[in-house]
Amino acid sequence: MAAKETPVMRQHADAKRAHPNRIVFFRLGDFYEMFGEDAVVAAKALDLVLTSRNKGAPDEIPMCGVPHHAAHGHISRLLELGHSVAICEQLADPSKCKGIVPREVVRVVSPGLVTDREHLDATTNNWLFALDFEEATIGLGLFDISTGELAVGTLRDLTEVLSETTRTLPREVLLGGKSSEQIRAARELLAKVLPNASLLDDEALPSDKVDWDLPDCMQSLEPHPPEQRAAARALRLARSCHPGKALPVSRAIRWEMRDCLVIDEVAQQHLELVTSSSGDKKTTLLSVIDETATAAGARLLRRWLLTPLRDVTRIRRRLDAVELFVTEAPLRKAFRLEVEAVSDLERLATRAVLGEATARDLGGIRDGLVAATKAVGVLERVEVAADRETLELTANGVDTVSDVESKLSQSLVDRPPNQPKDGAIFRTGFDAELDESDALRRSGTELIVSLETSLKQLLGIPSLKLRYTRVFGWYAEVSRAQSGRVPPEWRRKQTVATGERYTFSELDELADKILNADERHRERELRLLHELIVCVGRESARIRQLAARIARWDVFAALGEVAHRNDYCRPDVDDGDVLLFEECRHPVVEQFAARGHFVPNRCELSITGERMWLITGPNMAGKSTFLRQIAVATILAQMGSFVPASRARVGLVDRILSRVGASDNLARGESTFMVEMRETSKILSSATRRSLVVLDEIGRGTSTFDGLAIAWSVGEYLDEAIGCRSLFATHYHELTELSAASLHISNRSVSAQEVEGELVFLHRLVEGSVSRSYGVAVAKLAGLPERVLSRARALLDALETGRSTEAKASALVARNRGQLGLFESRPKKPSQGDKMVEELSSLSIEGITPLQALALLDQWKRRLTKL
Ligand code: ADP
Ligand code: MG
Repeated sequence: MAAKETPVMRQHADAKRAHPNRIVFFRLGDFYEMFGEDAVVAAKALDLVLTSRNKGAPDEIPMCGVPHHAAHGHISRLLELGHSVAICEQLADPSKCKGIVPREVVRVVSPGLVTDREHLDATTNNWLFALDFEEATIGLGLFDISTGELAVGTLRDLTEVLSETTRTLPREVLLGGKSSEQIRAARELLAKVLPNASLLDDEALPSDKVDWDLPDCMQSLEPHPPEQRAAARALRLARSCHPGKALPVSRAIRWEMRDCLVIDEVAQQHLELVTSSSGDKKTTLLSVIDETATAAGARLLRRWLLTPLRDVTRIRRRLDAVELFVTEAPLRKAFRLEVEAVSDLERLATRAVLGEATARDLGGIRDGLVAATKAVGVLERVEVAADRETLELTANGVDTVSDVESKLSQSLVDRPPNQPKDGAIFRTGFDAELDESDALRRSGTELIVSLETSLKQLLGIPSLKLRYTRVFGWYAEVSRAQSGRVPPEWRRKQTVATGERYTFSELDELADKILNADERHRERELRLLHELIVCVGRESARIRQLAARIARWDVFAALGEVAHRNDYCRPDVDDGDVLLFEECRHPVVEQFAARGHFVPNRCELSITGERMWLITGPNMAGKSTFLRQIAVATILAQMGSFVPASRARVGLVDRILSRVGASDNLARGESTFMVEMRETSKILSSATRRSLVVLDEIGRGTSTFDGLAIAWSVGEYLDEAIGCRSLFATHYHELTELSAASLHISNRSVSAQEVEGELVFLHRLVEGSVSRSYGVAVAKLAGLPERVLSRARALLDALETGRSTEAKASALVARNRGQLGLFESRPKKPSQGDKMVEELSSLSIEGITPLQALALLDQWKRRLTKL
């Protein structure tokens, strides 16, 4: 930075040194200024004018600034872009301070550590994601400061890192540990999948070595060093952003991927669980089932959806609770009515712990506690012992934190203001001192009014007014014409267009009194507010615990509501081999694209029986929809929800692996065959016997022969080597021959009828395969010109009679299959013919003379005849 530093710029340099990776908002009077590289970055991001300090001088540096009252919006924008901001404040009033004003960084606002409502999405956790790379394991620490949740876990490789980041979508990631190789690889990968996240390493952490130790909340967990280091990393960053504050973390939980039904990143997107390919939020599974009434409930539901369970007992326990809310309609309705008024207690309590709560936040906590008490009251009226157990209600009752609630109710006005200057915070009668200063304030004002009246009469000046401005304080104003009647001891202060302004000792005394009362009132109010915040902060763990229970009931009631409204059934979940859905529907398609006319279908797979269904049918028949609905219904069942079917049985699934052929996946901008193959190979390596594999038209991104051969061998491998339940949609009719060779593979097709040249989709899944693809009929539906259609029909006829290339391909593959399994790649000695073909294809005709060509021909001919 500058060669010749002024004291102020030295302060800035100190702040910058302590926060090298952050944009320093440096307070200068009414502005936050940014200097140097910070200024360049911020000016671009915030569309500010970039100027410079000491223009023309050798120490000229770029600079830009924002007015302090507008800082909030600018900080928001920077956070969205993944920046973090260090706020360097003036610690004293410049007018009351000799020499240079002391300045210090008082707060760091980091995307992963925000607590303001404005910077947060109410329905999503804001995870700070910390990793610790050791050779074989990766420790994971997740911390949401806004809710006080801390979780730890262990990941095996970058694939798992990727699947956890897509699940949690962190805005900030901390990378550290021994293996710098892995850190670099992870950084590269995450920069791609989370383009707007801030990626930090240990340099971002404070350099002191003292607080690597963990809070008590981690003592209950078994020690796993990489996990602990990852969690410690997250907490250290949090501490450095909120210096001197106790962090709101009550209990660490284990983030256990292995206890969950694993849905990897690609499947998550393909099944459109929380994001849709069109970007429309309404058409995701989450939005269809999210009937939660509270923000904390919405966050929990989202988590359950992305991490369904794998433990029969736990799933059944959830299902019991949902069922209770389905069958007991009055209970459901009454509870939902009350719970709706519960505010975001988790996040509000956190703000209290950090001392950031406003009077309005405290009002929010009070109202939330009142509503929560009523909602709990509805449940407490349940009498049947078994139902009480289902609702996790114990005899000693639910702690509704009523002591805090009554304290807040007694003290705060009904609608407390955000800023103390915007109105009264406390009820009259709550605090005697406050009431007294308030009365003084009021009586002072009344005294002024009566002084004005008496002066008017006494002096005979009807135009006399007693007024107040912030700059001058109280004064008397008299019109110029009547100013002669003013007593001589009055002091003239100012001449304005409307007359002359004076002060005098009686008015000064009164003004002092009012001002004093005002000041006393404000100080008292702030003191009481602070005490209240501290008191609420002390009980925040109890408040958060209540919030967590309410969130759980909210989710159960919401799932009950969805099941009731959309006619879902309770699945039988066990650890058997079967996956059965009768009259199954796609929960999203039945609400939108096919509302009112969705055709339900049956699915029955069994690990030991028919475990693979090969599904053929024309384009647009509903193959993809069927595949997805089965996967989605399985996820719903294992998260503890009812499912869109008339009967369901789910033998536990450990992973859902789902892939779409390249051309169906254009939305992701990856159409290459390579991507498809890489994903397919990932499936084959991670599927187990308990997995559900859903393959939609794989092998599409290449030539017919290649595609068919690959699809064929993948099908065989799934059946023979893995033996899991799978659904396989394909446009290669030849593939249906697979079923002849294996008892475990069976053909289904989605029917369509051609009625007088028009294609009618029945969307009904039937046994067997279809022989026609109806491609031309679909093309007609799409509006291709008649001339093109009739030519296509003629060509099709010719191909079908002359045996199509695809049919030949199938014969070829079938023959090979008899001789050698496609998976054992037995090395074959290349024949003369093969070699010649290779030579021929690498030959550049333009590059040789006719004579050379003749010589080559001669050589080949001789080689062939020798054979
Ligand atoms: P495919 O994969 O066979 O080309 P899709 O599954 O993409 O066909 O379905 C095409 C359209 O048909 C869907 O967008 C949906 O609107 C409709 N559809 C699919 N399945 C059904 C069904 N079971 N009942 C009613 N409409 C359906
Ligand atoms: Mg499809």
